[in-house]
Amino acid sequence: MTTKIPTRLYLSEDEIPKYWYNLRADMKNKPDPLLHPGTLKPATVTDLEPVFCKEPVKQELDDTTRFIPIPEGIQEFYRAYRPAPLIRAYFLEKALGTPAEIYYKFEGTNTSGSHKLNSAGPQAFYAKEDGLTSVTTETGAGQWGTAMAMATGFYGLGLTVYMVKVSSEQKVFRKALIETYGAQLIPSPSNTTESGKAILAKDPNTGGSLGCAISEAVEKAVKTEKCRYVLGSVLNHVLLHQSIIGQEAKAAMDKYGIKPDIIIGCAGGGSNLGGLIGPFMGEKLAGKSKARFIAVEPASCPTFTRGRYAYDFGDTAKTTPLIKMMTLGSGFIPSANHAGGLRYHGMNSTLSKLYKDGFLEARAEVQTDVFDAAIKFMKVEGILPAPESSHAIKAAIDEALECKKTGEKKVILFGLSGTGYFDLSAYMEYNNKTMSDYIPSDEDLERGFASIPDIPQNRG
Ligand SMILES: *Cc1c(COP(=O)(O)O)cnc(C)c1O
Repeated sequence: MTTKIPTRLYLSEDEIPKYWYNLRADMKNKPDPLLHPGTLKPATVTDLEPVFCKEPVKQELDDTTRFIPIPEGIQEFYRAYRPAPLIRAYFLEKALGTPAEIYYKFEGTNTSGSHKLNSAGPQAFYAKEDGLTSVTTETGAGQWGTAMAMATGFYGLGLTVYMVKVSSEQKVFRKALIETYGAQLIPSPSNTTESGKAILAKDPNTGGSLGCAISEAVEKAVKTEKCRYVLGSVLNHVLLHQSIIGQEAKAAMDKYGIKPDIIIGCAGGGSNLGGLIGPFMGEKLAGKSKARFIAVEPASCPTFTRGRYAYDFGDTAKTTPLIKMMTLGSGFIPSANHAGGLRYHGMNSTLSKLYKDGFLEARAEVQTDVFDAAIKFMKVEGILPAPESSHAIKAAIDEALECKKTGEKKVILFGLSGTGYFDLSAYMEYNNKTMSDYIPSDEDLERGFASIPDIPQNRG
């Protein structure tokens, strides 16, 4: 007798995992270390502590501790909005006529609307523990800024958010939400920092960029008493915090004896994907699973599928430590795209290493195909997905249709990283058929690659 799997695979509050999982501990071939951009030596605690909080720095440099206990003060924060639902997509399966089983982990039920709150909480908690009074950060599309505003509101810390100027003008409701939670929002570039002033002097009408906002936020943190900088993706401590996604998904699936064959996530800097796949990838590295893992990125910003594996900067001003990663070059400027959270030139170093070593697959999708998939999904499953998350939906549907051809009954798990409530202008464009699918030419990419630093480590 087989019991029917419920539509929602519940975990009780007590079953929320109490440990983060550090995938690097189980990798035989570790990702290459961060490098200090001046000395080109591996970055140390002393290099990173002027910018970041203490515990995140330790976590960033730790590639041996497998399970890291989640402090009670963070477990408390998680209980306010977790566990996140794990849903069996019965309706989507039926609509596709596929023999595959499809599951998705939905991270969009909290007010910030995405998985980013999973790392915003811990980062605010650690800032408070360090005795700081405020933190700074940047935000592009606004999801990370909103998550940080919620987290600093919860823990009672000040927050300055440098928001890419064009986004702050387009995403007025994001801006309003960030300010309502009590954060100070500054459109970037601004005249509150030297790096902002320098950019404005060159180009007073610029709409700003994520790289420029990062430079401003870092400068402000370093120059302010009892203040540090927090970052929402790319770094390994962020992936560690996001492992709560995979830990929960695995705990719920284990309860029902379900083993996913294919695990899919969208990839911007890699945090939701890395968090979801972590514990499942750990089993694969240990030879206990044959699961496949797929990263899905926008064709307009094809970091995995067309990028280079090299040491590169995380920001356009070239101030961050050097990260060995798949990259399009910090000077690459992706065309406007509705998946704002996926417009980043680089990729987390752990995921980049797994990709290079053949454990992780990647594919790139154009946005009209992604929105087609989103519409198919929302009509039957009821949830309005974020454009970023819809990249994962597209690949999940394609894999399910492949099963329909072959008759295989595979188990597919994908990450639905957020809701699309703040992205309705993108859906309007889709409805009006004014959405375009820009794919960068090889020449466009070459211009980005030219910005990758010419250091011995990059000369093969
Ligand atoms: C920011 C964001 C992403 C991309 O960031 P990752 O670090 O790659 O996860 C994906 N989905 C949503 C909803 C986001 O807000």
